[in-house]
Amino acid sequence: MPQDTPILIVGAGQAGAMAAAELRRLGHRGRIVMAGGERHAPYERPPLSKSVLADAAQDGKIGVHPAGFYAGQEIELRLGTTVTALDPAHSVAHCADGEAIRYAACLLATGGNARVLPTLPPGTPRVHYLRTLDDAARLRDAMQRAREVIVIGGGFLGLETASTAAGLGLRVTLIESADRLLGRALPPELGSWLAQRVLAQGVELRLGCGIAALVPQADGVQVRLADGAALQAPLVVVAIGLTPEVALGAAAGLALDPANGGIQVDQQGRTSAAGIYAAGDCCSQYQPRLGAHMRLESWQSANEQARIAAAAMLGVQTEPAAMPWFWTDQFGCNVQMLGAATPDTRYAWRGIAASDAPCPRFMLLGTRHGRLSHAIAINAGGDLRPLRALFGHAVEDLLPRLCDDAMPLRQLVRDLPTAAASPTTL
Ligand SMILES: Cc1cc2nc3c(=O)[nH]c(=O)nc-3n(C[C@H](O)[C@H](O)[C@H](O)COP(=O)(O)OP(=O)(O)OC[C@H]3O[C@@H](n4cnc5c(N)ncnc54)[C@H](O)[C@@H]3O)c2cc1C
Repeated sequence: MPQDTPILIVGAGQAGAMAAAELRRLGHRGRIVMAGGERHAPYERPPLSKSVLADAAQDGKIGVHPAGFYAGQEIELRLGTTVTALDPAHSVAHCADGEAIRYAACLLATGGNARVLPTLPPGTPRVHYLRTLDDAARLRDAMQRAREVIVIGGGFLGLETASTAAGLGLRVTLIESADRLLGRALPPELGSWLAQRVLAQGVELRLGCGIAALVPQADGVQVRLADGAALQAPLVVVAIGLTPEVALGAAAGLALDPANGGIQVDQQGRTSAAGIYAAGDCCSQYQPRLGAHMRLESWQSANEQARIAAAAMLGVQTEPAAMPWFWTDQFGCNVQMLGAATPDTRYAWRGIAASDAPCPRFMLLGTRHGRLSHAIAINAGGDLRPLRALFGHAVEDLLPRLCDDAMPLRQLVRDLPTAAASPTTL
């Protein structure tokens, strides 16, 4: 390959921007081309359902890197450029504008798209999906004019959107087909606590509600529920999950994970095609701590996978991925989670707070086969730090002390011989 053949990053989002920066940090002097379908420089998505939805002044403050970073680092940022096909045999990517980009290595960081309800496709008047900054700006404008909103979906995104809307004074109805909130991510007891809190904040919550029909109308959407009830609102937000954007990889013959649809990658981010890597929401990566491939939709995971893939592209050794960490802000709760939830994880509470407390503060400690494997902190994120040392360790005998919220965790963990020993897998 000619010496100036670039590393190509497809997707100018969280993972793409972090990978480009890491390539430079690791000393790569060659060309880096980053092609992004959106017209915005890479930005952080977590604020879209939180501060950005409430305040237009935030739009310019969410860049992954400061303005001028890409030019300063000689990263060729091609915004509004969609890559339409990959030819792994010839190491060429074809763009919608007709350009063909030859690459030395390619990172797919294409993220995903909001899952769509077929009866309410994007573009249906008064129906909103939330994935991009443009989506958030449209929804914000609509919320400023509306008094009422129906949110379909009781996952993280639906709850955050409902929380922001309620904070802006809208009457909010949240519909979830499962009989609890965040069923896959939170233990049932915490899901119930959260449901109580959501109700206490004035949101009408419809759990276990199948939707029989969605009928777009001139002045909004009518939602007919399976139990016979009919709701109507001038504004509907559909937040029912994400479909990984894998079209390029699939058409190029890359292996996909049948369990979750993501582009399958190993621990280094390598796909099944030589010279092609993937990172972020679009990929399903082998998680050594859990012994399984997983598609993690999170800011931290996108950053970690980007860091590791960048090192692999340069053939540089790097630290393994950090333990999964995720946060969400909703209804006055900053919820942080460390580790991973599995169906066989058992939880114990450290502290408890009334669901209508102004600032509830407590934790749930999850063990799997007696070992600490998951911790959920509600307005207590600082307590996760000392706990890290105990992850993977047998803690059943310690649980009564760990769950006594009168005992400062930092001091308790420091005095434990267990914490000094090397941790095992989750
Ligand atoms: C509203 C919202 C709130 C969130 N809140 C949290 C949170 O509180 N905590 C948390 O941990 N995570 C949160 N997340 C998740 C987190 O933001 C994502 O996991 C992260 O952005 C994934 O990064 P990514 O680079 O994989 O994908 P993205 O950031 O989506 O970037 C992918 C980019 O690739 C582009 N692209 C796709 N295909 C092509 C192509 N063929 N050619 C060129 N460009 C292409 C897309 O246009 C997009 O710009 C939130 C996400 C959203 C949407």
